[in-house]
Amino acid sequence: MSPRLCLVIDQERCLGYETCTVSCRMENSPTVGPRIRVETVGGEGKDTPAGHYPNLRMAFLPRLCMHCTHPPCIEVCPTEAIWKREDGLVLLDEGKCDGCQACVEACPYGAILYSPKTGLVEKCDLCCHRIDLGLEPFCVVCCEGQAIHFGDLDDPTSQVSKLIATNGAFTLMPEAGTTPSIYYCPPREPRRL
Ligand code: SF4
Repeated sequence: MSPRLCLVIDQERCLGYETCTVSCRMENSPTVGPRIRVETVGGEGKDTPAGHYPNLRMAFLPRLCMHCTHPPCIEVCPTEAIWKREDGLVLLDEGKCDGCQACVEACPYGAILYSPKTGLVEKCDLCCHRIDLGLEPFCVVCCEGQAIHFGDLDDPTSQVSKLIATNGAFTLMPEAGTTPSIYYCPPREPRRL
């Protein structure tokens, strides 16, 4: 039986170093920037906290293609350039893409980027070229905080399944009805003096 591949991103361990974005650039050579981006959850600017001293809160949220179970990007693509593999990865066939950008509009997560340089779109494929060699996605390997975990959602004994079960993991925008395969473990409550 095919696995259902996923990432679990532990916000407690993500320190916003952007190693994932750098490693994505190195591994995938995107023309429009990394296919993963790290947002600050806190104040209005990057690396700024919310609240007032001493009650400040800040966390980081790496965002990428959610490899949705029900992906609207596939539904709207007129050339069938986006497709889903048996293991759940949502992939883009650049050879079939005509650059119409219907998928850019349809994706609720802003995960598809249009490249004016190529006239085509780009998105995270979870480094499927590495997965097919038995390796982990490069962002997983490079994350200094070891905040990103990769594995099989359908295997209850996998590390990702255990993390999801024991850490109150959540997905982004459940109201969109896409059932993402990227999960987040929320940061812990800060200790107070
Ligand atoms: Fe498609 Fe966006 Fe879902 Fe990725 S996050 S599968 S690009 S709808």
